[in-house]
Amino acid sequence: MAFDWIEEQARARRRAGLVRTLRPRPADAPLLDLASNDYLGLARHPEVVAGAAEAARTWGGGATGSRLVTGTTELHAELERELAGFCGFEAALVFSSGYAANLAAVTALAPHGSLIVSDAGNHASLIDGCRLARGTTQVVGHADPEAVRKALGTHEGPAVLVSDTVFSVDGDAAPLAELAGACREHGAGLVVDDAHGLGVLGDGGRGAVHAAGLAGADDVVVTVTLSKSLGSQGGAVLGPARVIDHLVNAARTFIFDTGLAPAAVGAALAALRLLRREPERAARAREVAGELHARLTAAGLHAVRPDAAVVSVRAPSPEEAVRWAADCRAAGLAVGCFRPPSVPDGISRLRLTARADLSGAQIERAVRVIGETRP
Ligand code: PMP
Repeated sequence: MAFDWIEEQARARRRAGLVRTLRPRPADAPLLDLASNDYLGLARHPEVVAGAAEAARTWGGGATGSRLVTGTTELHAELERELAGFCGFEAALVFSSGYAANLAAVTALAPHGSLIVSDAGNHASLIDGCRLARGTTQVVGHADPEAVRKALGTHEGPAVLVSDTVFSVDGDAAPLAELAGACREHGAGLVVDDAHGLGVLGDGGRGAVHAAGLAGADDVVVTVTLSKSLGSQGGAVLGPARVIDHLVNAARTFIFDTGLAPAAVGAALAALRLLRREPERAARAREVAGELHARLTAAGLHAVRPDAAVVSVRAPSPEEAVRWAADCRAAGLAVGCFRPPSVPDGISRLRLTARADLSGAQIERAVRVIGETRP
């Protein structure tokens, strides 16, 4: 029978304790949330929700077409201008997701004959971008400028280095200034995914690239998601105008995809304006992360020191990680659970996100529950 082969994979997954299931979240969930990526607590902010509602009323429930046909509203153009301005880049292009933005940036900037140097800890969407690109990919050790230098030194012709700015599993930051230095020595472009840096790092949340003094550089391209700090949905690529023009003409996930829904554009714009008005939200998210890490460490747990808002706690095995997360949930705390194959190093973890709107009492409660349910 068709699809019978799936059974074999499902059995192997069950044996390894790696089965994934969906759990719909009720609207009034009483859980304390340390699992979402709503770093600034903006997803349900009245201004963000109003931005979405107003955009849907004005422009409709969907974008109605691809960006080059009917799917570019004035609101899309406004978001692109404001995002570019906020992060310090010449231009921006909005996509229907951060995933699509990453596929676009990598494929369009790595033509046939080019070299893509890719960090071993990169997000799946960057990895998939490398797989789809016409250029050749060389994976290098995690956060290793020397390895990047070596890889670039072996190649003649166009080259890019592709890296997350903040790695989504452990929450550690890439050494951006050193990586940019290595790229410049070899005339290579730097393409970085600031999904976890925007809204958290840099002056008022302008991101990791801004913090590293690389915003607006003509050899740097940044991708972001609108779905984490900005509490909406969608993604964007920021960079020099000529790169953005190139993406409009060459990036398949831009050309052949329906434009981002107006409600998501409106929500992201409202969140961006809020962040401009209340820049302290970014610093608060970092502060909460530091406090979480300090309390977890004091409780004897193995937590990785956070560079942004992600705090990762080691679990002894995939089974224990699942059981630990389930026990947290039963005690009213939602935490993320990362295990293979999502983690390339095979280490299972709980993944906690520090939200700017968490109170001291909530942080204390979260750490108490995690400590009481530990393996
Ligand atoms: N890059 C990174 C580093 C991410 O963590 C994510 C989200 N999981 C994405 C890209 C994808 O963004 P989106 O969810 O908007 O598709």
